[in-house]
Amino acid sequence: MNSQNPLYAPVRGGEHHMVAGVRIDVAPAGAGRIKRVIYPAGFRWSKDMKPVSGTDRCQFAHVGFLLQGQVHVEYPDGCTEEFIAPQAVTIEPGHDAWVVGDEPAILVEFDFKGDTASRFGLNGEHVHGT
Ligand SMILES: [Zn+2]
Repeated sequence: MNSQNPLYAPVRGGEHHMVAGVRIDVAPAGAGRIKRVIYPAGFRWSKDMKPVSGTDRCQFAHVGFLLQGQVHVEYPDGCTEEFIAPQAVTIEPGHDAWVVGDEPAILVEFDFKGDTASRFGLNGEHVHGT
């Protein structure tokens, strides 16, 4: 990774965390938070994050903007979504997801912790056909 590249550079004024190989930089923004999240190539939620989270699927909503890379999302009913940078991203709670290809996926996320779905008017879980 190129440390001169601002996509990867340390974030000013944020807290830095590493979780299951995922780099998370988070800064407060009013009642919410803004995060830069770097998912490494090969990352898969159900393989890497599931043991950490203790839930069967990712129960968080993700709202943000994919700056780099490609992310494949799968819901329990078999519905899939493909996000390819540059693209806005909306993912409902209750999903598996993984990075496609050789490039890390870099996502800027806007979140309200457990209230992200309701604050953005999203379903609390995937509802087929909506
Ligand atoms: Zn569906």
